[in-house]
Amino acid sequence: MRLYNTLTKKVDDFAPSNDNIARVYSCGPTVYNHAHIGNLSSYVASDILHRTLKLAGYNVQRVMNFTDVDDKTIRGSAAAFPDLDPMDALIEFTSQYEEIFRREMREIGNLVDEVQFARATENIPEMQWLITELLRMGIAYVADDGIYFSIAEYSKTRKYGQLSKIELASETKSRINNDEYDKDTAADFALWKSEKVGEPAWDFVIPQGAEPYGVQNFRGRPGWHIECSVMSVDNLGQPFDIHTGGVDLIFPHHENEIAQITAGDRPEMMANFFVHNEHLLVDGKKMAKSANNFYTLPDIVAKGYDPLDFRMLVLQSHYRKSTNFSWENLAAAQNRRRNWRNIAELRWQVVDSGDDGQTEIVNDLLNQAKEALLDDLDTPQALKHLDAAIEIFAPSNVNHLALDNLIRFVDDHLGLRIAESTPDISDEQKSLITQRQTARDNKNFETSDKIRDELLEQGIEIKDSSVGSIWSRK
Ligand code: AMP
Ligand code: ZN
Repeated sequence: MRLYNTLTKKVDDFAPSNDNIARVYSCGPTVYNHAHIGNLSSYVASDILHRTLKLAGYNVQRVMNFTDVDDKTIRGSAAAFPDLDPMDALIEFTSQYEEIFRREMREIGNLVDEVQFARATENIPEMQWLITELLRMGIAYVADDGIYFSIAEYSKTRKYGQLSKIELASETKSRINNDEYDKDTAADFALWKSEKVGEPAWDFVIPQGAEPYGVQNFRGRPGWHIECSVMSVDNLGQPFDIHTGGVDLIFPHHENEIAQITAGDRPEMMANFFVHNEHLLVDGKKMAKSANNFYTLPDIVAKGYDPLDFRMLVLQSHYRKSTNFSWENLAAAQNRRRNWRNIAELRWQVVDSGDDGQTEIVNDLLNQAKEALLDDLDTPQALKHLDAAIEIFAPSNVNHLALDNLIRFVDDHLGLRIAESTPDISDEQKSLITQRQTARDNKNFETSDKIRDELLEQGIEIKDSSVGSIWSRK
């Protein structure tokens, strides 16, 4: 399997470093409001990575975090639950967005049960342990509003900027204390922020051995970057295999994650591969909350699209190319998915043609689709091969085994849930189709048209073919 690695800036051969288990960490959502479909596209990309690792024959251990404590979640929880204790407000507020996120992950066809979720607020002692280590090594220092990471100290033994290749200006000594970082300059960043009145906080008594800061209680809360360094390595080991996220996370988030976990006498690598998806755009600009140019999943469902149409839209472009979101593109994706589903529906309606040629052609195309996925997750190319496989079927010629193989591939490796979304029609609907046929045979077109319209109202369209009438869902 081959993957583009942001660390090396090229497509490299990938294999897990041990045990045939691919260990993957995906930066998860900040649970302070509804994810937009740009965020969701990023999770489709990491889901395809997950599925392709399985397709390559590896077991996958995948961890995703919920950033449930940061500036935004704290602000949001205080506004939503002003009467609650700040910690209770935070948990109450973020839990509701976690639930929405999990549900939407399922709706867009992502694996959820095979992902291990980790909440920042449930890993505070582990973060405190790493911060203590950094203090002990002299790489972290205490300032009046928290504990900071010193890039200058780190740089004495390690190179800061492995991933983004950012160059440090000599004598940089700036510091940043909020969670929305400057994108262009490296600055010392907060590992731990001192308690502010009315905000959730945890005790942090730094133990002996990390003097001169021993014995004080630095009550407060973690910075954003430390959350991911700890939740990834604690669960997956160091170095683990693959770290994922959108390209906007390369700097400073992933760069700072690397610095924290490779400082001083810790292992030199955080992860062997970093895989980043490009952005979903609207009118050529990144879809973002701050630009107010975003749509959510409920927005597109309200316009009559299925969440899986959105998945198809994402798969239609390569994860390393930015995609423009437009209603026309979504309609095209919907058409493609409908076409695939309508072929899948033939399995309920026509007898097996026994055409072995179809099995051969489909197997060959599935192999090519597999090769495309193994080659840096080339979903658009995989879809082309699958389109070619879809095209060989017609009501007059369906080898059931070949069609089943095709559906299984699409569902297992692309998560489009074709089988599940194409159940057989009901007995009542079947009987209506028979009645319509009888009416037609008797040239009673008024009745046959009436039945056709009735079925259409139930979302079932009838077409006449050389092998009789064929139904399909719209
Ligand atoms: P956040 O919840 O803001 O931390 O973002 C969650 C994930 O979505 C991160 O991996 C981001 O890099 C990614 N992301 C944010 N905006 C977009 C976008 N417009 N297109 C694709 N991915 C995005
Ligand atoms: Zn992260």
